[in-house]
Amino acid sequence: MNDQRPFAAEMPWPDFHARVKNGKTPILIPLGSMEQHGHHMPLHVDVLLPTEFSRRVAEQIGGLVSPTFNYGYKSQQKCGGGNHMPGTISLEGQTLVHQLRDVIKEFARHGGRSFAIVNGHYENSWFINEAVDLALRELRWDGIANVKVVVLSYWDFVNEETIAKIYPDGFPGWAVEHGGVLETSLMLALYPELVQLERAIDHPPATFPPYDVYPVKTEWTPASGTLSSPKQASREKGELMLAVCTDGIVKALRDEFSIN
Ligand SMILES: [Zn+2]
Repeated sequence: MNDQRPFAAEMPWPDFHARVKNGKTPILIPLGSMEQHGHHMPLHVDVLLPTEFSRRVAEQIGGLVSPTFNYGYKSQQKCGGGNHMPGTISLEGQTLVHQLRDVIKEFARHGGRSFAIVNGHYENSWFINEAVDLALRELRWDGIANVKVVVLSYWDFVNEETIAKIYPDGFPGWAVEHGGVLETSLMLALYPELVQLERAIDHPPATFPPYDVYPVKTEWTPASGTLSSPKQASREKGELMLAVCTDGIVKALRDEFSIN
């Protein structure tokens, strides 16, 4: 769209103002977490991936990317290994809700009317919904009623056909993908210098009873911190998912925001 990178925080204010004030520019807000992702990947996987998806999508639809939320809601044992794991630094749910609510309202105050929340950490999901609901309600109180927010998690755009290619031996489900083939492949495609695949620990997908226990029973989490094995990850799989998810998100946002 233009040769400037789409990151809002990299722009001088007149450029930002020109893009946001008319309400037409979609504003993408990536949300991540600082969370352990096994022995083979850094703590910022959930930050790096939605940020890069947001950048790619914004370049295609003429959007702007907000600074990424580097912290997210507390890691849960059955989808993120658990908040007890070393390296996992989380926010209280209420803190996350209020921060995201405030950021949406602030962009709206400067003219933003079309938002996409691009989630990279499953545990954030319900808190995003709450923040969006509060922001829309409070903006209505201020007389701003024409704000639209699309909420998405990038992995939901991996379609059945792609799942069959990525997991030829059977799909373990997104919940136990934590640090597994999906995230590791995407990281190999985007940031291979941050992946130490030789340190990845091979183990069967984690199994859990159909309930949670607090305080967590730490022995339920595989010692590696990953919930399924990343051994079948590859750069090629990452590139395939990168393309499929980027295309899917671009199409969804073009539809929702009526962009040609
Ligand atoms: Zn993750």
